[in-house]
Amino acid sequence: TYVVTENCIKCKYTDCVDVCPVDCFYEGPNFLVIHPDECIDCDACTPVCPAKAIYRDTDLPADMKHFLELNEELSRLW
Ligand code: SF4
Repeated sequence: TYVVTENCIKCKYTDCVDVCPVDCFYEGPNFLVIHPDECIDCDACTPVCPAKAIYRDTDLPADMKHFLELNEELSRLW
């Protein structure tokens, strides 16, 4: 799955939502999250994110690992 991280917080761009073929972005409290069961790992969102906030789970920087759980928890609230 792909994961939205720190730089998305209070970001106003939604280019990722526009390009995602399966509509798996959901609104968190102040940033967007990706639903891990719906993401098809297409990589369409990473290059269009102006904030460079999106990573594949396997490429998450060490200090961003907690965002994996955050994306899971927050997307499942919907
Ligand atoms: Fe959507 Fe593809 Fe990004 Fe997953 S990798 S969130 S399916 S655009």
